[in-house]
Amino acid sequence: MRDRILRILSSYRKDDIRIGTIGSHSALNILRGAKDEGFETVCICRERERFVYENFGVADHFITVEDFRDLLNENVQKKLRERNVILIPHGSYNAYIGSLYNLEIPIFGNRVLMEWETLREKQREWLLESGLKVPKTYPSPEEINGPVIVKYPGARGGSGYYIASSPEEFWRKANELVNRGIISQEDLKNAHIQQYIIGVPAYFSFFYSPVRERIELIAIDRRYESNVDGIGRITAKDQNEMNIIPTYTVVGNIPIVVRESLLSRIMEDGMKVYEHSKKVAEPGMVGPFCLESIIDEKGEIYYFEISARIVAGSTVGIPASPYSYVLFGENMYMGRRIALEIRLAIEKDMLGELIF
Ligand code: AMP
Ligand code: AMP
Repeated sequence: MRDRILRILSSYRKDDIRIGTIGSHSALNILRGAKDEGFETVCICRERERFVYENFGVADHFITVEDFRDLLNENVQKKLRERNVILIPHGSYNAYIGSLYNLEIPIFGNRVLMEWETLREKQREWLLESGLKVPKTYPSPEEINGPVIVKYPGARGGSGYYIASSPEEFWRKANELVNRGIISQEDLKNAHIQQYIIGVPAYFSFFYSPVRERIELIAIDRRYESNVDGIGRITAKDQNEMNIIPTYTVVGNIPIVVRESLLSRIMEDGMKVYEHSKKVAEPGMVGPFCLESIIDEKGEIYYFEISARIVAGSTVGIPASPYSYVLFGENMYMGRRIALEIRLAIEKDMLGELIF
């Protein structure tokens, strides 16, 4: 497959490369970044959202589709190839399209690692083998003996997650969520039961640059989740009367700077994950990746997820996060960093090392 993609890439005119992505998730970030680096942009979008990308002025060309899955249609892919498009994958690819192996288009980043991130067990293995601390997992609900968070497979933005502290509480809440139609019986069968870490979430957006051969910390954010982030607005007395189940549906993100003494560990952890990624899938991580953590009161960092691509939270870093500004001395954010890497690679004739 890689050979076929590299052949397509070699047919592209290097002075007329365009950057494209699906119109959702972090497309504003990606497309604006491409324009800031002088590329023409292509947005593959649904009719109902097209006005957003038109309004923000980030797309030079549109390919309108009925459904994001239409990206798999040969005629859409042909249009992209004819327009010299490099696709930048984001969270909506996993959610709406499935395997990136179905796309015969040059993609920025390592496709194999992007497949890994869709499987929790593989992510966990990758984090563990990199030497990072991860929350414990429970193979069955009957073994729950402390606070746990219950999750489901795939990128679904935290919908239907809940907390339990015993097998009885697991089943009581599961049944309630099934009755309310928030989760299905099928979801329950595939539930992933993880130790709940009491602490604060912090998501680190890194970029590995093959051109500069270095890891860069581009931004840090946390998710803003409903209803768990709203519960604190209600007094404990009212909470008790309302019978609320905390849930984790992501609605947005908030920027963070961390205590500076935590940075050495965070950056070392980023490097360890990068180093191990070479063993997972040669040549390892290319471009953006995100480590998602909870930091507890002792300053221990527990990682519960890796994303091997741009995350939506990196949009908090437009036009620059404190970290990217310190590093670059000018506006720099994940979408722009991706485009900068592509531009530098074109200049150095290294594009083949970024494309999979
Ligand atoms: P959407 O088009 O908003 O449904 O997003 C596509 C996929 O990306 C879904 O699986 C979402 O859960 C995920 N996603 C979107 N925005 C965010 C965000 N800000 N943080 C984390 N995940 C997100
Ligand atoms: P995920 O879908 O795995 O990214 O998790 C969604 C949200 O659930 C995170 O943003 C956290 O707020 C919360 N969360 C996930 N795992 C844990 C954990 N092990 N301990 C505490 N909170 C967690």
